[in-house]
Amino acid sequence: MSVVKIGIFGGTFNPPHLGHLAAAKAAVDVLDLDRLLIIPAAIPPHKELPEGTPSPEHRLTMADKLADALLLPEKVKVSTLELDRDGKSYTSDTLAQLKQKYPDAELWLLMGTDMFLTLHLWHEPERILKLAGVCAFGRTEQDGEEVFSPQREHLQKTFPGAKITTITLPGLVDISSTRLRELLAKGEGADYLLPSVYGYILMNGLYGFHTDLKHLDIPTLRACSYSMVMQKRVRHIRGTEEEAVRLAKRWGADENQARRAGILHDCTKYLPGEEHVAICRQYGVELDELEQRAVKLLHSKTGACIARHVFGEPDEVYEAIFWHTTAKENMTTLEKILYVADYMEPNRTFDGVERLRELAYSDLDKALLLGVETTIQEMKDRSLPVHTSTLRARAWLRGHGVTTEG
Ligand code: ATP
Repeated sequence: MSVVKIGIFGGTFNPPHLGHLAAAKAAVDVLDLDRLLIIPAAIPPHKELPEGTPSPEHRLTMADKLADALLLPEKVKVSTLELDRDGKSYTSDTLAQLKQKYPDAELWLLMGTDMFLTLHLWHEPERILKLAGVCAFGRTEQDGEEVFSPQREHLQKTFPGAKITTITLPGLVDISSTRLRELLAKGEGADYLLPSVYGYILMNGLYGFHTDLKHLDIPTLRACSYSMVMQKRVRHIRGTEEEAVRLAKRWGADENQARRAGILHDCTKYLPGEEHVAICRQYGVELDELEQRAVKLLHSKTGACIARHVFGEPDEVYEAIFWHTTAKENMTTLEKILYVADYMEPNRTFDGVERLRELAYSDLDKALLLGVETTIQEMKDRSLPVHTSTLRARAWLRGHGVTTEG
């Protein structure tokens, strides 16, 4: 069996930025890693955490978003090894712990130019280089071989047997967290951040942000929404947003409301059950017995609450999100649009989706009925109860002479 290769990417991640993302991506590919551990430092030995640094919990959550953005959940993990350890976060101790945990693995320590050029000055460099190979990468266009090779030679002479490799990052991003914090203090810097991290910073008021969440422009609203979900859901959310806008154009609904409803419709999808119940209680949403048990049904209610109470969205957007899973009788055009867009946006692939796509642009009510009937059938096939609102939606549509024929 071949040796398991583990990459170790330590840092303060204060905050994680697109430079970190490019480095992590390239390391996984070039080193052909079986696993990448992103390890936020508790107390970095070589730099003070500046005043206003978010709590370790916030840095950990932001590191999780960096890991999630790589879309390799089996391979890329965040480790709390250093956050859980008392005292300074010495890399040599971390590597020793990892070696104990994975005695047969090959460890690779990843680092940018700044770290590589000072490696001989770190705590116990000899122990570090015995425990792991070093994979260094440039942080700017200027960091070429002429910068790396003298240090590589020096390290190999001083620590015989040291394994050192340098890689070039295809998507180099010339940014540091220090510079980014300066930009954030001026309300800038979003271009250097994953939207999910930017949204998280805004929603939690980190780095001195005091954003009025009730008046966000579209890119910022997207960032906040994406900060609440897993990266794998973002494609669907984006698809729903775009489909909802196209349908709003086709059927004369408010395009801006369709867009905002699309952006926010799944924002609470990953909340644990008890938080859904707490949000409903907080905002006075009554739940029937089925809703109390089915989180899939709850996320539309809580998503609507967050849209209204956190982001200040109007009633039309609230209602569209509220009914986007069950549907109901007497739906407005915007409510129908979000329901149908969610069902047939371009990333959906189920049998029959093409017919739904055709109907969505030729007869919105037929499309709605087809969606409702498909859901009812699916619930029956899976022996699951059908929500009464969905049954009422079907009866209402049929009562108005709507069929899925033709
Ligand atoms: P700070 O400015 O606060 O020192 P930083 O941007 O250097 O932060 P760290 O979290 O300390 O970020 O860095 C973690 C690791 O990521 C280090 O090995 C660092 O060299 C590397 N790194 C940081 N920024 C980049 C970048 N833009 N491109 C490639 N690697 C980077």
